[in-house]
Amino acid sequence: MTQGQDPKTGEHIAYHTCPLCEATCGLEFTLKDNRVIRIRGDKEDVFSTGYLCPKGASIVDLHNDPDRLRTPMVRTGDTWKKVSWDEAFAAVEKGLLPLIKKDGNDAVALYLGNPNAHTMAASCFLKVLIKSLKSKNIYSSSSVDQIPKHVSCGFMFGSPLTIPIPDIDRTNYFLILGANPLASNGSLCTAPDFPGRLRSLKKRGGKLVVIDPCRTKTAQMANEHHFIRPGTDALFLLSLVHVLFKENLVSLGKLDGHVTGIEVVKKASELFSPESVEGHCGINKTTIFKIARELAAADKAVVYARMGTSVVEFGTLSNWLVDVLNVLTGNLDKEGGAMFPMAAHVPVIPAVKGKGFKIGRWKSRVKGLPEVMGEFPAATLADEIVTPGSGQIKALLTVAANPVISNPNSTRLDKALSTLDFMVAVDFYLNETNRHAHVILPPASPLSHSQYDFFFYGLSVRNIANFSPPVIPCHEQEMDKWMILIRLASIFSGMGATADPKAMDDMVIQFMINQALASSKTQLADRSLDDILAMLDKNDGPVRILDFLLRTGPYGDGFGLNSKGLSLDTLLAHPHGIDLGPLKPRIPEILLTPSGKIELAPDLIVSDIKRLHTFIQKPPERQLVLISRRHLRSNNSWFHNLPKLVKGKNRCTLQINPEDASLLGLEEGCPACVSSAVGALTIPIEISGDMMKGVVSIPHGWGHDFPGMSLSVAASVPGVNSNILADEKLMDTLSGNAVLNGIPVSISVP
Ligand code: SF4
Repeated sequence: MTQGQDPKTGEHIAYHTCPLCEATCGLEFTLKDNRVIRIRGDKEDVFSTGYLCPKGASIVDLHNDPDRLRTPMVRTGDTWKKVSWDEAFAAVEKGLLPLIKKDGNDAVALYLGNPNAHTMAASCFLKVLIKSLKSKNIYSSSSVDQIPKHVSCGFMFGSPLTIPIPDIDRTNYFLILGANPLASNGSLCTAPDFPGRLRSLKKRGGKLVVIDPCRTKTAQMANEHHFIRPGTDALFLLSLVHVLFKENLVSLGKLDGHVTGIEVVKKASELFSPESVEGHCGINKTTIFKIARELAAADKAVVYARMGTSVVEFGTLSNWLVDVLNVLTGNLDKEGGAMFPMAAHVPVIPAVKGKGFKIGRWKSRVKGLPEVMGEFPAATLADEIVTPGSGQIKALLTVAANPVISNPNSTRLDKALSTLDFMVAVDFYLNETNRHAHVILPPASPLSHSQYDFFFYGLSVRNIANFSPPVIPCHEQEMDKWMILIRLASIFSGMGATADPKAMDDMVIQFMINQALASSKTQLADRSLDDILAMLDKNDGPVRILDFLLRTGPYGDGFGLNSKGLSLDTLLAHPHGIDLGPLKPRIPEILLTPSGKIELAPDLIVSDIKRLHTFIQKPPERQLVLISRRHLRSNNSWFHNLPKLVKGKNRCTLQINPEDASLLGLEEGCPACVSSAVGALTIPIEISGDMMKGVVSIPHGWGHDFPGMSLSVAASVPGVNSNILADEKLMDTLSGNAVLNGIPVSISVP
């Protein structure tokens, strides 16, 4: 009988943190004979208290999806063959090592997709894989998403991972730009039940203001919504800064003495009055003055921005200005403002001064683009594949990625992938990208992995720790993702395809322990390496690493220093998680800038303002522009293979304002041809008064009509891929983030 099993029904309950989005909701599963018979939100989860969205409710369908690959596959020509794991790793070794020997390590590129951020495996072992691969050609979905935020935070706070989070449960004034948490469930802000938290804000008399080119679901519940022309958020934000200085509303509060560069920011904002930007943004000057004054007057206020402000030409400037406003109004590191979480697995190392953040330590081969956080822009991946010469990419390894759908000018990238000598995909779907692979290594289903959100507890609106063991054991044919990553790392590091994964796993944990022992800042109660290894959880892989990190973390037991402190055992005894409390002020301890202060005016960012100035010198743009949109039942480019999540009316439509539709002679439901500088597609029209005039939108993540895939449901409702229209040559200068919003388009009736 399984532990906790009801002897009468044979059922038992398991709890698991949902790994599908950043909200980290607790799920409750009722199981019988290792099959899930019921799923609901875990009412006792300390963070989500029972909240569940349609995706979370469908995780069992994902587990049971007949198209989900359970065994490795090798392709010869157009034929896929199921093989054993040993055969698959041998094929990887045979396909990649001779190529590396001949053309060098840079000939093999690595592309990491968004779902990695949700797995313990990737959190613990991707670095090991990258290190063993020794290639400069590292790419990820970060540069079609949030990398501008990393860049701005890196320069301001000294680390790209030091990201302030809106304290939404205590704020009284919440200004949101380009984010729709009612569809996304929140991003760079881990907050289960975002809708409920926004309702609470309004109930306590707080004000929600949304700036977005679309009257999204989030905008509809706001006290105020203002349309903004896509790509002009930086102008709007800089004009708010302008008003704060002009009207003497700057007040740093407790940050006084911890900030450099205020005068530089003041000077930089002088040219951006509300009067000078209103024509470009589409928000009138009276509104801009009003918002700036309200922001300054609110006792607890916060500015928060996401995707819509990030995937644009001025992405880094926009993300920087969000935090400039939080600083200038005294709301950074303050209750109800933008605060820094203290995750249970991240050691607190009091920093007086740090080395600061750098970009461009090396450059991409073809376009000379700077690396950011060790990566090149995803938008230049095709250039590196198709341009001959020394260092050309000849092979690609993807991990949970679908760049053919998520990257700009995806038609070009798709063609480029077909020219590769060899490709390996770590993924459990044969999707638009993986159809080019020669070997697919499918990790087990999310329900067969342990879960602890290494990334998202560092971006959370409360300090939370929650660990979940697998709900359903890994089938004997399947492999946990961490084992796949470690076996790949063994191949690249020369240990071979047949190396015992335990050897590398042991090396990793021993390295971590030795590093901690060598650091004067980590307290380990005078333990030796052997003592610590003996005291750690007896599992291998990420679970043992988690135990080590929890125990050396800010709430940890320090291997005997603090008997009430956290360890993996503590989390196992609390299946609904542990609430470690609301966020607390962390400045200056968290700053790693060379000055030891918040560097409000980093040189590289301030010099980029010139581009903004050039932009407002030109007459305001009037051409139709395209933005993308999200839906609660989608998750980037996947989840379209689950019938429950795609049923109902077609969601892949072109939304257009009634006036624009009438001018162009477009009718509801009729097809329209949309073309840009790099592509064209045909899509049904959906006329919507929720769209700003001059702006149209297509949902992100569709276009499942490629041959050679194995996504039967998605292929029956393919939709179109909006990124066919995005020009890969357009990027945010500093971060290299692709421009996926604000794409000039023409629309005609076919
Ligand atoms: S909101 Fe996110 S974490 Fe919560 S159930 Fe839905 S997909 Fe899972």
